[in-house]
Amino acid sequence: MKDAFGFIIHATWIAPVRPTNTVLKDHCLVIKDDIIIDLIPFALSQSKYPEWPVQILDQHILIPGLVNTHGHAAMSLLRGYADDLELMDWLNNHIWPVESRLIDYEYVYDGTSLAIAEMISTGTTCAADTYFFPDAMAKAYQDNHFRAQVCLPIIQFPNAWANTEEEHLEKAIATHHSLAEDKLITTALAPHAPYTVTDQGFESTLALAKDLKIPIHLHLHETKDEVQGAIDETGHRPIERLRKLGLINNSLQAVHMTQLTSAEISLLAQQGVQIAHCPDSNLKLASGICPVSDLRDAGINVAVGTDSVASNNNLDMLAELRSAALLAKGITGKATTITAAEALEMGTINGAKFLGLADKIGSLEVGKQADIASIDLSAPNFQPVHNPLSQIIYSASGHQVSNVWIGGRKKMHENELIDINLDLLMSKVRQWQDKINTPAEQ
Ligand SMILES: [Zn+2]
Repeated sequence: MKDAFGFIIHATWIAPVRPTNTVLKDHCLVIKDDIIIDLIPFALSQSKYPEWPVQILDQHILIPGLVNTHGHAAMSLLRGYADDLELMDWLNNHIWPVESRLIDYEYVYDGTSLAIAEMISTGTTCAADTYFFPDAMAKAYQDNHFRAQVCLPIIQFPNAWANTEEEHLEKAIATHHSLAEDKLITTALAPHAPYTVTDQGFESTLALAKDLKIPIHLHLHETKDEVQGAIDETGHRPIERLRKLGLINNSLQAVHMTQLTSAEISLLAQQGVQIAHCPDSNLKLASGICPVSDLRDAGINVAVGTDSVASNNNLDMLAELRSAALLAKGITGKATTITAAEALEMGTINGAKFLGLADKIGSLEVGKQADIASIDLSAPNFQPVHNPLSQIIYSASGHQVSNVWIGGRKKMHENELIDINLDLLMSKVRQWQDKINTPAEQ
């Protein structure tokens, strides 16, 4: 009979995100298998579910697992390797040379595994990830029971994964089909950026995305130089070029978008383009600032991503949401722009929508997947708890996340990661550190 039981999580507060701006006191989530089957006052749960095991989280708040809508997980191995540089100098002279020297299946698997450990420990339960060797990325997510959108890279330059745009597309098809049955993994096509993909590459990507019925995930209008470079070369801003090629539509997940005219914002709204805002990466690389308030006013869904730790330098989504809220206030000159509740939505339900998973994750509602994080609000930096949502966005560090579940499975218990051999992982990371710092042979 025990098999018929699920389990109950009783927390002092629950922020279910839907309904908007709600905090429930002394409620509990009831989980069966991978699904939330009830959300009720604790007093009722004992009569309704007698004998079901209960985890009591006194002075904790439960939130939906955070959704990181843009990153390059394997680049965690390059954390702090090249900082305080302009984007193109950073890419051309530092990041890409190391990557071309070292990237292989093991590098990507180990780097992604490092990122997964950091993401779980800071409350993220779902991530969109773009990198070479997406088969290695996917294996790391599968081995760790972590929800992910595996983005299949397309770039015109030869690399260890593929040599031409055509070969990238062929490998994308094979990788997509190999993951079709996975319950936690979806896929997207990820042409790298307008300046690294040809018109032909974009046309083939669009046709394939339609064929496979998957989205397109693209760095777009990241910097002023990108836009000016495109104007100099083609006479068009990248968005105009992509519009002509047919890519500005509701299957586009556009990342960064720091350089936008009001006409472009109207076009994006009309076409249902969704946006991943990466405030820390944009600030650190001095790329520009995404006009989040204008985009939201236009009705565009804006989610949040960390980008890679090589340009962040962490995967802490709570820190990212704080940056998103503060930056929006600073830019608009209005302290009412992006409330704490709205920031939490950007990191949960907006991210779920961005990934086409709003029916599954992003809020704590009956019928949704049990992707959950708890934060211990008994720590001094949360006292007194006048407003739990404010404490989460403005006072918390991701490292104060205490428990995490993905699809009903416990991934962190009382600040200890479950099923991850950290000693082994760290020894592999140190080996990569040595290789990264060993100069290439002349
Ligand atoms: Zn990126």
